Amino acid sequence: MAKVESFELDHNKVKAPYVRLAGTEKHESGAVIQKFDLRFLQPNKDAMPTGVVHTLEHLLAINIRDEITGVIDISPMGCRTGFYMIVWGETPIADVVNGLENVLKKVADYDDVPAMTAKACGNYRDHSLIGAKIYAEQVLNDRISHDPFERVFE
Ligand code: ZN
Repeated sequence: MAKVESFELDHNKVKAPYVRLAGTEKHESGAVIQKFDLRFLQPNKDAMPTGVVHTLEHLLAINIRDEITGVIDISPMGCRTGFYMIVWGETPIADVVNGLENVLKKVADYDDVPAMTAKACGNYRDHSLIGAKIYAEQVLNDRISHDPFERVFE
């Protein structure tokens, strides 16, 4: 059986919101990528409605690359408590937290969801900008920890 990193994490022990380095992969070519667990909500206590996750996915996709160099992908977790982000190279946790906070602060300024059309999106009817604003503000108010198990802010 394949070992899945996130299945090894004890979701009862984490304290959201947080950023966690979920893994570093080194290819024989020398290329390095990292995967980050961007946890917005406490697992098994709360979850974002699908429209909220979807709208935040669009807003993160369009803004996170201005904040963090080398972002390959940022995608929602199926449990709807956060996102995974894959980045080229090695990025300090503090830079990820800072970049994520900056994007979440921008959410309040949006009047429309970017790429909310049948052409650009796979389910353009399932969005919630008001919900995205509420959850973004909640995550900022709760503060994003630099450690998944202890509340650390520097
Ligand atoms: Zn979409």
